[in-house]
Amino acid sequence: MSESENHFRVTLQLTLTSALTFLEGLDHNPVGATVDLPTLRRRLAKPLGITGLAPERVVEELVRDVEGGILGSAGGRFFGWVIGGSLPAALAADWLTATWDQNAALHACAPAAAVVEEVAGAWLKDLLGLPQHASFALTTGCQMAHVTCLAAARHALLARQGWDVEEKGLSGSPRLRILTSSERHGSIDRAVRLLGIGREQVIDLPADEQGRIVLTTLKAALGEQAKQAAPTIVLLQAGDINIGAYDDFEQVVPLARHYGAWVHVDGAFGLWAKASPSFRHLLRGAEGADSWATDGHKWLNVPYDCGYAFVADPEAHRGALSHRAPYITHDQNARDQIDWNPEWSRRGRGFATYAALRQLGAKGVEELIERSCAHARSLVLQVGALPGAEVLWIPVLNQGLVRFLDTAASATETDHDRRTDEVIAALQTTGEAFFAGTTWRGRRAMRVSVCNWRTNETDVARAVGALESILKTHVVCSINS
Ligand SMILES: *Cc1c(COP(=O)(O)O)cnc(C)c1O
Repeated sequence: MSESENHFRVTLQLTLTSALTFLEGLDHNPVGATVDLPTLRRRLAKPLGITGLAPERVVEELVRDVEGGILGSAGGRFFGWVIGGSLPAALAADWLTATWDQNAALHACAPAAAVVEEVAGAWLKDLLGLPQHASFALTTGCQMAHVTCLAAARHALLARQGWDVEEKGLSGSPRLRILTSSERHGSIDRAVRLLGIGREQVIDLPADEQGRIVLTTLKAALGEQAKQAAPTIVLLQAGDINIGAYDDFEQVVPLARHYGAWVHVDGAFGLWAKASPSFRHLLRGAEGADSWATDGHKWLNVPYDCGYAFVADPEAHRGALSHRAPYITHDQNARDQIDWNPEWSRRGRGFATYAALRQLGAKGVEELIERSCAHARSLVLQVGALPGAEVLWIPVLNQGLVRFLDTAASATETDHDRRTDEVIAALQTTGEAFFAGTTWRGRRAMRVSVCNWRTNETDVARAVGALESILKTHVVCSINS
């Protein structure tokens, strides 16, 4: 064996052992971080050596130095933000992706990666109920999927007015506006900034009790836009971050299209409802939109980084992104990802998606969605039934909200807010479960989000149990004081 082969063998075997120790410890170890920022810095900020180290030593020390600073988000007791884990086949494919180290920009430099993406894209459209003729891109996440879709929108809307945005840019162009609801995700704002549209062009429309854009206000805004012959994007939600709200696509999509607007759907996790007969009604009418963005690294449980962009009009998509250069070898018959993606050189991220979808099958995706939603509901109802807790939102999908009340008779909303943050923090120190806080309709709340394939009833029971003891202890404390 050559020296380099031996280095791989020793290093990767050590890595496999460390990976298994980590994965098998997820059910037992604390789910939150157990070391603070100064400790991590002290351990990791070593002087960069003049000479290098043996690779196995680098890995050994890395594993040791990050200990306690790796959240258990790959495990079943992590309910913070919207974060999934990794399915075994997806993780393995991701390891191989790094091993093969393909540059998946073009078919010419990564033939199998190009075909895998072609196949995965078709499977995804099928599962998510999107038009078969839609084009797609596998991006780093939903953030860049928004950039991709909105670049296609910008291209198409301005081309209709005789403006070539790729050549001329936006200065002097017709003014493009985005109509959306105040409940949108911040990644929309960043996409709008990156594309030079500018945040001022985003018009916030009110949302109703269910978190849906209000039809009459939208209609008025569309009418106003039409009067000025202004190119317009209507940006809708399939699952907002706090309550998983869905816009009323059946009503809104035809209305927006009647006015000539481009309809984009943010379905980072919510688009996956389509895979389940119990939840797909939430997306009724969404297939009529112009573009859709979603994630693989959240609910599909592929490792970070993986998002998907879909565009109903492939020419708009290609017009915004494709690139030709004399030194690039293009294949007429094959998929060249550079024509659809914002990146140039890129990871072969289709492998993990392909593997995840094959491990689950359509039925497996359906079960994953339904199981997560059932656990989310059960968590919210059980936690909400504890003394001192209050349910704010029962999950429609896999997102719910609970808050914790200050039991003093004179307690104000500010006291309840403080109490809610205190309980979330106290739970994290137990290491039993992890939830994050949010401010929703002016009140602090604990977000309950379930999207990990590993989450089971035991995980739910442990989270409820840990919260129950925190609430009890705190009551005792306040009686004593
Ligand atoms: C997570 C999320 C995003 C951003 O997706 P990334 O994959 O983090 O880039 C956008 N919209 C919603 C609703 C999300 O939950």
